[in-house]
Amino acid sequence: TAPFLSVRDLTVDFSTEDGVVHAVNGLSFDIEKGTTLGIVGESGSGKSVTNLAILGLHDPEFTGISGEIVLDGQELIGASRRELERLRGNKVAMIFQDPLTSLSPYHTVGRQIGETYRKHTGASRAKARERAIEMLGRVGIPQPQSRVDDYPHQFSGGMRQRVMIAMALVCDPDLLIADEPTTALDVTVQAQILDLLHDLQEQMGTAIILITHDLGVVTSAAHEVLVMYAGRAVERGTVREVLGSPRHPYTWGLLSSLPRLSAPVDVPLVPVRGTPPSLINVPPGCPFHPRCDYTALAGPGLCAQERPELSPHRGHGDACYLTPAQKRDIFLEKVKEH
Ligand code: SF4
Ligand code: MG
Repeated sequence: TAPFLSVRDLTVDFSTEDGVVHAVNGLSFDIEKGTTLGIVGESGSGKSVTNLAILGLHDPEFTGISGEIVLDGQELIGASRRELERLRGNKVAMIFQDPLTSLSPYHTVGRQIGETYRKHTGASRAKARERAIEMLGRVGIPQPQSRVDDYPHQFSGGMRQRVMIAMALVCDPDLLIADEPTTALDVTVQAQILDLLHDLQEQMGTAIILITHDLGVVTSAAHEVLVMYAGRAVERGTVREVLGSPRHPYTWGLLSSLPRLSAPVDVPLVPVRGTPPSLINVPPGCPFHPRCDYTALAGPGLCAQERPELSPHRGHGDACYLTPAQKRDIFLEKVKEH
């Protein structure tokens, strides 16, 4: 059977005054219901743009988009504004880093959650209010009856994030896109929110795309991981595969920036030197080659000229010319050095 969400060869370019930004290039992935895919990368790696494309939130006037995004049998690329509008909230919902950008300061949280529900179900105001109270309870807000008429500013940061999750899930979406949902929160609250998402996923069978620059978040909250670099997937697999035996030199670098305590392997590796490339001038060949220490090993000139594809197509894959034995040996050597 077809995966619940299937993205194939997605390419997103958009025009700016400085030139064309190649934000996403040839990206493919699948997600099944009830599972979480962590998309990891530095800022500017294309991870947020990917999700705006899934949601149809890019501006068509400035954006070129190609490939396939099939959600539960429906092709989203080329779908009309109206169709996408209907899907958002109902079938696909999103939460962002900062709840204050999604929540209006002028309306009570009950009103906002209720309106989302009414818009997609046509429920009465009274029913929508009941539903809002139910959702506030489900996301762990104590005494929801007495909080439903409060305004967003009357909640703490963590509680506001819960309100936003309640609003996102009020119509029982099949897919939730969470873009850095816990970045602004302290570590304890962050863990609570990730636990909450996990519990709700178990109850509702939601598929989740979790976008983050933090491998620690992925370790605790995702089933599968996609590592993005310069708009491309450079490694993909289960959390155990990618974090336990990473194969791509860029992933080794990301592991180095994990705080020691949450590292899946108990060692910091050597951080990646240099900075991510501009998406206007993506380097030819392997986009990582200007920062990579292993180009000589892969064969003279190869990395700078030919773009490596993600392989194999299923399971643990990576886009790097080093041989499997080289990748294994270098990683083990790095682990040993510490
Ligand atoms: Fe480094 Fe070459 Fe592998 Fe790219 S393909 S990560 S440049 S060794
Ligand atoms: Mg982002």
